Amino acid sequence: MRTGNLFVISGPSGTGKGTIIARLVKEVPDAWVSVSATTRRPRPGEVEGVSYYFLSKDDFLALADEGGFLEWAQYSDNCYGTPLASVQREMAAGKQVILEIEVQGALQVKEKMPEAHLVFIEPPSLEELERRLRGRGTETDDVVRKRMDTALVELSRKMEYDIRLVNDDLDEAVAQLVAYVNETAEQK
Ligand code: 5GP
Repeated sequence: MRTGNLFVISGPSGTGKGTIIARLVKEVPDAWVSVSATTRRPRPGEVEGVSYYFLSKDDFLALADEGGFLEWAQYSDNCYGTPLASVQREMAAGKQVILEIEVQGALQVKEKMPEAHLVFIEPPSLEELERRLRGRGTETDDVVRKRMDTALVELSRKMEYDIRLVNDDLDEAVAQLVAYVNETAEQK
């Protein structure tokens, strides 16, 4: 069994974080992806306890007050947080724990747990990011513009991460992340 480690993965919406993590989980048998709590409403197809724990704002803030989150942050009018107990449990069980969270939360984790490994996933370029956001075909111009503004703020913090991966070629990005996780887990 390998020692447990914590990996925190961020990157602007549209960089393909979710796809990369889904592929990572298939290739790293001891990887475990944390399920966050959020106050946002479920989107079609999202499942309670799998996609997120969907909480009311009151319940979310009560849990935050009790110290139930490793980190939490507000992001486009909703709150998102990482439940602390399950992260501790899985790390103690020797898992490679993966958090997919936004930048403010990631930097809180680094402060609380300096041994956490922060990975920033970058789009190949801003033009490509905008093309991907529009390519989903579901977003209005206004939404795309807001996501691009948020992306610029997020990109401005990328140097605070331990490593940066460019998702130019999906297979290559997955291979780099898998290698980083395995090298980290085997160093101990
Ligand atoms: P979405 O609403 O699209 O599922 O997520 C919006 C943003 O919240 C994404 O950048 C996602 O990574 C981030 N996020 C999801 N869970 C957490 C969490 O537990 N903590 C923080 N800080 N951000 C989260």
